Amino acid sequence: MYDLLQLTQIRPIGMRDDGDKILIFAENIATPPDRCDKCGNAPLYKHGKRRYTYADTPIHGKPVKVEIETRRYRCKACGTVVTLSSPSLDDRRVATRRLVQYIQDRCFGTTFTWLANEVGLSLNTVKGITQDYAAHLEELVELETPRLLGLDELHILGKPRAVLVNLEMRSMFDMLESRTKVLLTNYFKNLKNRDRIKWVVIDMWKPYELVIGKQLPNARIVIDRFHVVKEASKKLDELRRHLQSKLSSEDRIKLKKHLRWSLLRNEPNRTEKDVENIEYIRNHMSHMQN
Ligand SMILES: [Zn+2]
Repeated sequence: MYDLLQLTQIRPIGMRDDGDKILIFAENIATPPDRCDKCGNAPLYKHGKRRYTYADTPIHGKPVKVEIETRRYRCKACGTVVTLSSPSLDDRRVATRRLVQYIQDRCFGTTFTWLANEVGLSLNTVKGITQDYAAHLEELVELETPRLLGLDELHILGKPRAVLVNLEMRSMFDMLESRTKVLLTNYFKNLKNRDRIKWVVIDMWKPYELVIGKQLPNARIVIDRFHVVKEASKKLDELRRHLQSKLSSEDRIKLKKHLRWSLLRNEPNRTEKDVENIEYIRNHMSHMQN
């Protein structure tokens, strides 16, 4: 039979299409070890065969299982049982190494459920492979703690997640599961080189200020301009509504339309009508503030 598996020391002996999956039968033809690696005794004696089923990369768009007949050996001196393996197999995942690689290559581009269905593994196995891979990737990079830190949040899967940005490099520094005081305190407590942070730019979320004040006492806090303008605009609009409700009927007719935007628009963007509105307020209504 043509070696359709191309797995080291694994020889295919048959194949069956079950409709929803493909089953390949094979045997492990590895040379048995000549002595016990626990106690050094030789030789090892045959100790029966077992069948192990490994998941493999899909064929014809279907999940693949490889059922491998594997010989076992036993050391008579210490009782250790040796099961043959293969460098192409991941015994912990009960999958071929190339399938683990296949999942690693795809896990950040699709859902766990989709991948699990595609390769015929359980959801938890696919999750486990992805988490191990993510931890491995994290070990490969070490980001320098920023001098200028931006702290904000993104809503992902219905929850606010703290996002930390290196403002000098304009790059992402980290992302946290949430933005609670407890989690942030813990994070900054354990952050390497946290003294390096000189400035932190935040919105007006009080816990940010409290945590930074405590955990990064040398850093200065800046409120992001966007949030300052937003709050100021909100107050201005509240005042506008309050005053507008007290207008005389003449003023009301004069100022009915678009007054809100006339006030909120930045000066360079104001229309002629905006300027007229503002002039009218200045000349006729400044007494109303009190
Ligand atoms: Zn032994």
